Amino acid sequence: MKRARVAYAGAIHDAVEVRGMLQLEDGRLVNQKDVVWLPPVQPHTIFALGLNYADHAKELAFQTPDEPLVFLKGPNTLLGHRGVTRRPAACTFMHYECELAVVMKCSARHVKAEKAFHYIEGYTVANDYVVRDYLENYYRPNFRAKNRDAATPIGPWLVDVEDVGDPMDLTLRTFVNGQLIQEGSTKNMIFNIPYLIEYLSGFMTLNAGDVILTGTPKGAVNVEVGDVVVTEIEKVGKLENMIVGED
Ligand code: MG
Repeated sequence: MKRARVAYAGAIHDAVEVRGMLQLEDGRLVNQKDVVWLPPVQPHTIFALGLNYADHAKELAFQTPDEPLVFLKGPNTLLGHRGVTRRPAACTFMHYECELAVVMKCSARHVKAEKAFHYIEGYTVANDYVVRDYLENYYRPNFRAKNRDAATPIGPWLVDVEDVGDPMDLTLRTFVNGQLIQEGSTKNMIFNIPYLIEYLSGFMTLNAGDVILTGTPKGAVNVEVGDVVVTEIEKVGKLENMIVGED
């Protein structure tokens, strides 16, 4: 099942996809074009992986980490499908990051990798924009680069875990103004999803609805005001966003 959260006719609704339409929880069928898309989840904690694809680490001239490089994002960062993200006027390098996002089903602590899939609700697509001008090095907290308001579009759908099958063999693609500009496969993650759940739950509790952004492959290119950016993951969805200026 593909689930969404939308605003329609002045109210917020849970919805599911039915024959290309959105069915609201009260049974009404509405056109996908007629809603405002909200992030499909409201997480307690948002985890994000840095440098989780070796080819992306290489293009940025960073060493491949030997332990997951995880940081947190605030809920202010999330934005729904077809939203707009602001590009700071003075920046020189802001790029998208197409990422498979894992949504947790229940609380998890000390979970072994081989049991990890029992703890996953589903998957969605995220675009983890970064303003690289503000990223100085590994050790300085990356708030200005990674925790900007509405700079992490996510959605449109939360797709149930059983509908995706093996999440470690999905094609990720980013299109800027219709042109394919980033392509990779989740099979090239350095730390795979079961390992990440074992790793994180080994020292902290994961909660229902928490989101793990699993990193992006090679192909990070600067985006400009006016660009339409589509991040797409096989079997999970196609997330659209537009870049606007700071005013
Ligand atoms: Mg990222």
